[in-house]
Amino acid sequence: MTTAQALPDALSEPARAFAAGPHRLVIGGERLEAADGRTFETLDPATGRLIAAVPYAGAEDVDRAVRAAREAFEDRRWTGISAAARTSAMLAFADAIDAKADELAELESLDNGKPLKLAKRVDVKLAAEHIRYFASWPTHITGEVLPVAQRGMHCYTRKEPVGVAGQIIPWNFPILMAAWKIGPALAAGCTIVLKPAEQTPLTALRLGELALEAGLPEGVLNVITGDGDTGAALVDHPGVDKIAFTGSTVVGREIGGKAGRALKRVTLELGGKSPNIILPDADLEQAVRGAYQAIYYNAGQACNAGSRLFVHSDQYDDVMSGLIEAAGKARIGPGLDPGTQIGPLISAEQEQRVRGYIEKGKDEGAELLTGGDSLEGDGWFVEPTLFSATSDDLTIAREEIFGPVLVALPYDSIEEVARRANDTEYGLAAGVWTRDIAKAHQLAALLRAGDIWINTWSAGDPSAPFGGFKASGVGREHGREGLEAYLENKTVWVNLG
Ligand code: NAP
Ligand code: MG
Repeated sequence: MTTAQALPDALSEPARAFAAGPHRLVIGGERLEAADGRTFETLDPATGRLIAAVPYAGAEDVDRAVRAAREAFEDRRWTGISAAARTSAMLAFADAIDAKADELAELESLDNGKPLKLAKRVDVKLAAEHIRYFASWPTHITGEVLPVAQRGMHCYTRKEPVGVAGQIIPWNFPILMAAWKIGPALAAGCTIVLKPAEQTPLTALRLGELALEAGLPEGVLNVITGDGDTGAALVDHPGVDKIAFTGSTVVGREIGGKAGRALKRVTLELGGKSPNIILPDADLEQAVRGAYQAIYYNAGQACNAGSRLFVHSDQYDDVMSGLIEAAGKARIGPGLDPGTQIGPLISAEQEQRVRGYIEKGKDEGAELLTGGDSLEGDGWFVEPTLFSATSDDLTIAREEIFGPVLVALPYDSIEEVARRANDTEYGLAAGVWTRDIAKAHQLAALLRAGDIWINTWSAGDPSAPFGGFKASGVGREHGREGLEAYLENKTVWVNLG
């Protein structure tokens, strides 16, 4: 261990007790150390100090977890119970999350750095809601009887679970990303091996325990902690039928390639460089508030961050002043401090990465309007940063920064802005701020992205498909489409003649 364990005084007893450990992998109903006893450290991003050691799952542990999931699937421990019973078990799991909402929010705030209020109001609450929404699906998963041409032939379809799902999630919304993955898989009847990011293992481990306490059969939800090699071993394991991944486009490409070769089912939710467009007729106050939240929420560590802001030349200066003023008032600090609005970045590495982009922005000639500095002290804090630029070709206008860095760009016509907004390898989300209903819908049709937000940003619901065009991903999460990604179709022909 690099430092002594140091948990903040602000933690409640239950959160402290869990955070302190000892931590164990959740495999087949047991809580296990890694086969070779290896561990790694999870750190507090507000201080850089040690939260706890966590088991490092190597290839042997990945194999144990996949076998546990396989066994639970093959002996029909989950699919064999009635759909209604699956609904009940999932509802009990959602209730268990709600019952531990305070503890889970504290663990999330501690491990990830995000403001406690938001961890509770957004991450934990929406995680429970997501499981609850998908709990309503099992009794609605049906096939069809098909009106085939052959006489005397009865033809119908069945929707069956894909099998064992390997799920790999990032550190920016750990418990919520876990719920996004677990919900549809459970509803479909799949069993799961979930791997959280190495930076934020705590809430996933707690979820694994809560699922067992809530009565999910052993082996249905297995949680293994480790790093990218652990994730790669999960992707490569022949006992895994489907991979669901959220994270960087680089790793997503690699996983997509492997899944293609192995012919495993795969869904990928990757990066973005989402355009946010303020039209001249917009309610400017609302648009400035929206543009601010779109980039600085979660310290900019969101796949759907509105990181390119297009503002009409006529309003450009007013919008910049509004953003500078708002950024100047931001309260930056540890997530567990009640007044904090913007927490630290996840790691020293991520802070360096973001700082590198800020330097590149300056070097390439963008004008730094506000922010740009790190905070003094041990945590990984970066100020809300705003650049103004005139060229779409700057590195900071093209690459995903994944930090609190906004690039504003002026434009003059709708056709021009639609073209420039789409001129990116990504296509996760796009926003339009306007009072003109016709222009809103015109742009909604023109913009090449999976989510279009009009006079809002980041609106979402478990029923509303979410995912990317182009390099932002493959497939959709949420709703019926999210569920379908965990189902196989089987067509049955019966000769009645
Ligand atoms: P990442 O490497 O893509 O990590 C995402 C998840 O994949 C983590 O659980 C990670 O494990 C795992 N992983 C890493 N390499 C893998 C591999 N070869 N095979 C299977 N799984 C693997 O993302 P990151 O390094 O944490 O962040 C880097 C950048 O990714 C960010 O700066 C941001 O641009 C982007 N990102 C995007 C999202 C999003 O929501 N779209 C989320 C996070 C990050 P470990 O973390 O344990 O190594
Ligand atoms: Mg951590």
